[in-house]
Order: sequence, then structure tokens, then C-alpha cells
Amino acid sequence: MGRTTRSTCPYCGVGCGVLIDTTETPDGPCITGVRGDPDHPANAGRLCTKGATLHLTASPMVRQHQRLLQPAWRADRRASFQPVDWDTAQQQIADRLLDLRARHGRDAIGFYISGQLLTEDYHAFNKLARGLVGTNNIDSNSRLCMSAAVVGYKQTLGADAPPACYEDLDLASCLFLAGTNTAWAHPVLFRRIEAARAARPDLKIIVVDPRRTETAEFADLHLPLRPGTDVALFQGLLHACIWEGWIDRPFIDQHTEGFDALKALVRTMTPAETARLTGLKEAQVLQAAEWFARSPASLSLYCMGLNQSSSGAAKNTALIHLHLATGQIGRPGAGPFSLTGQPNAMGGRETGGMATLLPGHRDPASAEDRAAIAALWGCDPLSDRPGCTAVEMFEAAARGEIKALWIACTNPAQSMPDQALVREALSRCELVVLQEAFGGTATADFADILLPAATWGEKDGTVTNSERRISRVRAAVPPAGASRPDWQIVRDVAQRMEAVLRPGADSLFAWDRPQQLWEEHRAATCGKDLDISGLSYERLEAAPQQWPFPAGAEQGRARLYEDRRFAHADGRARFVVRPFAMPADRQDARFPMALSTGRLRDQWHGMSRSGTVPRLFAHAPTPALHLHPADMERRRLKDGALVRVTSRRGSVILPLQSDAVLTPQSAWLPMHWGSEFVGGQGQLGVNAVTQPAFCPDARQPELKFAAVAVTPVELP
Ligand code: SF4
Repeated sequence: MGRTTRSTCPYCGVGCGVLIDTTETPDGPCITGVRGDPDHPANAGRLCTKGATLHLTASPMVRQHQRLLQPAWRADRRASFQPVDWDTAQQQIADRLLDLRARHGRDAIGFYISGQLLTEDYHAFNKLARGLVGTNNIDSNSRLCMSAAVVGYKQTLGADAPPACYEDLDLASCLFLAGTNTAWAHPVLFRRIEAARAARPDLKIIVVDPRRTETAEFADLHLPLRPGTDVALFQGLLHACIWEGWIDRPFIDQHTEGFDALKALVRTMTPAETARLTGLKEAQVLQAAEWFARSPASLSLYCMGLNQSSSGAAKNTALIHLHLATGQIGRPGAGPFSLTGQPNAMGGRETGGMATLLPGHRDPASAEDRAAIAALWGCDPLSDRPGCTAVEMFEAAARGEIKALWIACTNPAQSMPDQALVREALSRCELVVLQEAFGGTATADFADILLPAATWGEKDGTVTNSERRISRVRAAVPPAGASRPDWQIVRDVAQRMEAVLRPGADSLFAWDRPQQLWEEHRAATCGKDLDISGLSYERLEAAPQQWPFPAGAEQGRARLYEDRRFAHADGRARFVVRPFAMPADRQDARFPMALSTGRLRDQWHGMSRSGTVPRLFAHAPTPALHLHPADMERRRLKDGALVRVTSRRGSVILPLQSDAVLTPQSAWLPMHWGSEFVGGQGQLGVNAVTQPAFCPDARQPELKFAAVAVTPVELP
């Protein structure tokens, strides 16, 4: 007999609702189909190619052959893994972590987790790291995704809270899309943009992107700026708004601080200077400024093109400044709206599952905030030593300071920049635990213990999408093989460690269902900007809800700051003065090309899930280095020719693909392929060449800019 389970898509931050169809078979229930949930506000029944093929990632064939089904360990990394039972694996991890902690201190242990974990999983890891092990060395692959957006919001508006919502796409009269190929990375939102355009022919769409992507093709004005010059453009737009009289002076005076200092900074960013720095035309800059400032409601959408930068925070704040200076915020259809890449990057921010955050948007540098969390959790005082963020964690491991890494639901041996350093770090660790749903990822080569995790369709909990909407994720079938939900795996190791570290005390991890973790997380938000103290699991069972949702509320808030009171203590937003700076890597005669990496339409991250669906390769079956036809001609290269891409960190060999969407002197690589596909034995995949330099405020690495050389490979 068939059954339908309501859940959420596990791919991108749009957070589409899905209906999972299952049928009973002699081997138990089996997922047979996935449909868009017509009642979910994020997608109203729509799904993209990835969402619509989710059921194929949970087929009996995939569950049997491409999943990790049994815990396994090895005493020597040159040996193969041997299956082991859960009790042995978990006791082994607990014993080895306790030993390393005793010998080398709490900060010898690090946790590297994922924006694809559920909120409940994040809470479990955070409590283990900070509440029991006693380290702030917990960070997430969301560091590679949106930590610059966090800093941008906090510094300007006072809280890490995206002020807009998806409905604003229908209400805006000007859409300003910067560093986002929405058509590929957030396809269901792009369908909504297309619908808005069809309904309102006067809608102005501006796209800022060095490449003429499918999103840029749809724009009224495409600004193909020189890679890395976004801050110069945004400052140039602000200059134009000021000198053309398009700013909202009463709004600035009544609701902000610091405008005059920023005005002095952008005085020299004239249209001519902006054009010189960005490669754009003065008329394009003036046109964009006029549309943005003078439209009744301007909404900006932005994503990795701004965030993945050594000046990511500066790019975010410079864009938010435009909204503040023109009063384009806190109204329907207006505001700065960062799109999250991963399905629950927002949940990681909310639970504080990152080195620079604590639960409820608290700050680990604040003694008061640390004491509040220790009191809520009933644990020892939290460590006041700053934790390592993603790149720093692998650098510390490469120096031998971090001795053990517990990695969950992510594949740093493929996805982190500067792979040579990451692999050196993993090799040096005395203990690498890998908690994963899918087998055969590159990180498994460096692991000592593999823990099989349940995944989409098999586990319960919650996720938060880009518009602050919390949705339930529900299990439709039991976990494959011996796999278990992530929070349960953490709980069982933590309780073994507690027996040594807190003998006789009540367990901090006495959970037997996800709702209990949710309740602990909910309590940590009370009185904070993301207050969900009024949002019970029962209410979430009925429908997804946006935060804040304080006690007594009947529904969440669609958009923030409508009362013009921002989240800084004095209620005023801030302009933050930061001069324009070029990317960390320098183009020169040796490395003349600007390389960027990014998503393909039909693949997801390292392809451990999307790669199980053959039809998702139809769009782009193999990796290729994309070059502008003029650059190929200059080098006398043809489509399909093998080239070596070399940066200051390493090189990779790939076939070439001519791509006129690029600007000359730039190159583009899809991010999805690792060493098993690119370059063969001994090669490191596309991240052999990328840049680990990170934004000093957000600690987000610069995956969008590496200076490279492209040379032909002579075949014997
Ligand atoms: Fe899933 Fe994102 Fe596609 Fe929606 S747009 S179906 S959340 S991948």
C-alpha cells in the first residue's frame, strides 16, 4: 500500500517542500517518487531537476551499493576498512578522543560539520564540542558558503537576520542580483523571478556577474564587472546616488550612523573611476544606480559571488549600504536578501554550530553569552579560547596542533581550497572520524573510523531556508543498513565520554527523539533576535514557519525592520567604512587568468548524492575548464584539448570548453569534480588550484578568485 510523507528537499537553501511517495515491498517500505508540495510556501509545488529526481537517490540500488551501511575501522591507514559493530566503533572513538584530550588538551580536537545537517544534528555536535569536550573548534562547510553574509548583516543591521522574504520577489520593482546565478543555483526562486517579470513588464532586473550566465541573459542590465571588483562597483553606485541626489537623507539621519565617513570614502569613486576599476561603462553604472535608488522597491539577491572572497564582508556591507542610503529596506519588495547555498546553513547559524557563533546568535567572545549557554545546558563553563574556523582548522592540523578531526556530512578532501594543505592536515591527524551517508568520498581515504549516517528520506528534524522559514524534515523509510541519524551517533559517543568526564552526573545528552533537541535549541533563542520560543514542534507539524516567532505569536514575521528599528542596541543601522581592495591572489605575467569556480545547474557539491542519478549528468557529463573563445584562439587551443591549469598552489589537468559567457582573461571551473575524476591518480581535483586566503572578518576563503596559467598538455 502506498503512503505519502511531507518533507523538505535536502539540496539548496530555497528549502522546497516535497511529498515523498513510498510503497510497501517484501523488503520493507521503498521510496518510489517525489513531488513538489503544493502547500509549501517556498515552492508551491515546483521542483527543479535535482529535487524532482530525489527519489532516485534513495532507490534500493543506491541504498545497497552507494551508501555506507556499516561502521568500519582500520588500525593502519594503508590497510582496508573492516566492519565493526556500533558499540565497538563508538567506544573506540570515545576512548581515543579522551586520550588525545588528556595528552594534548581540549583544543587538540576539532569538529568539521555541514550545512546539510539538520538543526537537531547541529545542536548535538555543538553541545558535544563546547559543552563536553570543552573546545570552540567546531566549524562547518557553511564557512565556505555564507559566513560573509553573517558578518555583513551583523555589522550593518545589528543581527544575522535576512530582512526580506520570497514574497518580496513578487513585490519588488527593481531586482539587483549580485554574484548569484539564480537560474542554476536556486532554480525554483528563478521561476518566481520569471513569473514576476511576466506579471510586471516594468520590473527592472540588474545582474552583476563577470559571466553572462543564464540569469544575466534574463536581465535588463548586465554588469559584467572585472572579477573581484564588486566593492568598487557598489561604492561607485553609492557615489552616483549621493551626487545625483538619489539618497534618502531623512532615513539616513533618523535611522543610521556613520554615513558621513562613508560619504568621504566614496568621494573619489566617481563613475569614471568606477568604470576604470570594474571595466564597466560609466553609463552602465549610472543606469544601475538610478534604477536601484529611484524604483519604488529594490530588492537585492546575493550569494557566493560576494561571499567567497577575501573581502566578502566588505562586499556584503557595501551592498547593504546602498539599501540604507536609499531607504530601500524594511518595506515590502525592498531589502538586502542573501541566499544560502545549503539546505540548513541557516540552522547552523541559529544553533551556533560554527567557531564564531554560539546558540541563539550569541557570541563566543562574550563572557555573558558563554555563561548563558553553560547555564542552559547545565555544563561546565565554556572555553574562552577562540575556535578554529574551517581553513584555520586544517592549517592547525597540518601544523600538528589539532590531533583529531570528527568530520560529518562533508568531504573536505575535495571541497576545501588548497587541497595539498588539507590532505597534509588529514594525514597528520592521529584520529580522523568520518560520519557519512555515502561511501567512497575522497575524505574516506584519510579516515580511521567510518560511521554510516542516515540521510534524506530516513531522518527527522528541522531545517531553515534562506527566508528564515523553518520546515520539518521527515523520515519516509527506515535508515539504510545499520546507518543512524547523526544526532543519535553523537549522543552515543558523548554519553561514553561523559561516563569518564562527568561520572555520576545527569547526562547532557539524554535524548531519545529529535523534538528534545529542538526544545533545547528553542530555549536558547528566547529573547534573542531569532526568538522561536513560541514555535512548538506541534505548530511546525501543521505548517512551516518563519522566525522570529516569540511566545504568544500566532505566526512568524515575513520581513524585518518594518518599524525602522534595527538590531543594534540604539536601534540605528551602521555604515561601515572599508576601502576597496583587490583579491588576495595577483594576476601577473606568470598567472595571467582570473579563475572562478561555481555550480552547474544539475549537480550538488561533491556529487555524493546527485552523482547517483545518471540523468543529472546529461547537462554536463564531464568536468571542463571554461575559457573565452578569444583566449582559446590566442593560445591556439581547441574544444576538448587537454590543458594544465596552474596556480601558485598546485595544478590540475582538464579538457577545455569554449564558453562565450566568460569575459576574456578569465576562466571558470565547475566545483563538483574531485580527484577521482580530474587528472587521475595523484591529482587533487579542482581545488588543487583554489585560494585559501580568507576574509579577515568572516574567515570565508576566496574560492571565487585564483590567478592561474593555462597551458596545453602535450600527449606522448
Ligand atoms: Fe531542491 Fe533547491 Fe531545487 Fe528547490 S530549488 S527543489 S530546494 S534543489
